[in-house]
Amino acid sequence: MTPFDLILIGSNEFKIIKDSLPLGVSLLAVSKGHHQESIRKLSGFGQLDFGESRLQEAIPKKIDLHDLKQLRWHFVGKLQKNKVRGVIKEFDFIHSVDSLSLLERISRISQEEQKTPNIFFQVKFRDDSNKGGFLKKDLLNNWPKIISLNNINLIGLMTIPPIDLNSYQRKDLFCECRNFANQLGLKDCSMGMSNDWQEAIEGGATWIRLGSLLFGKR
Ligand SMILES: *Cc1c(COP(=O)(O)O)cnc(C)c1O
Repeated sequence: MTPFDLILIGSNEFKIIKDSLPLGVSLLAVSKGHHQESIRKLSGFGQLDFGESRLQEAIPKKIDLHDLKQLRWHFVGKLQKNKVRGVIKEFDFIHSVDSLSLLERISRISQEEQKTPNIFFQVKFRDDSNKGGFLKKDLLNNWPKIISLNNINLIGLMTIPPIDLNSYQRKDLFCECRNFANQLGLKDCSMGMSNDWQEAIEGGATWIRLGSLLFGKR
């Protein structure tokens, strides 16, 4: 197998997905678990935004792809405290900020590193023991403190619906996320994955995060 067989999607299929996105909806290609040559190939179709969920996996891929300077890197995984500096150095966007203490640490280390990462708050709109995230009330209560922090660019909310919701319930949840982002004055909603991206767009997503639909099974 040549490396170029690694990716699932062809340029025509990719174009069909891209062309179906309404204006204002961006595509994040979540490449975790996939080979860097698949990233290279997808970038050849014009894709610039890639998502990874582990720093240790992203670093060697980025070294291999260092010639592709135009790529933008998004961190989408659970962010451990001891990985904050590395993530700030390597990534332009963080989709998974799930606590005030984590945000404070990001702010402090971003100042030291002279960076200003783009931040999404992960929010949990339904009970879900499998996931982290802010509760709405916690984000609201902490908002004055949050907006006083330096070297962070607050751009949006990120959410992942619990797996047992049906299509209507997911759509409701996505609309709730959109409304809450509007209430906070945040432009972006990072929501929708391979199995629910169309519902997320109907609910007001501005970033959809597709992995398996583009790259195949992990
Ligand atoms: C893996 C992952 C995705 C992509 O999931 P698919 O179902 O493969 O599209 C999106 N967002 C996050 C946070 C992920 O961890």
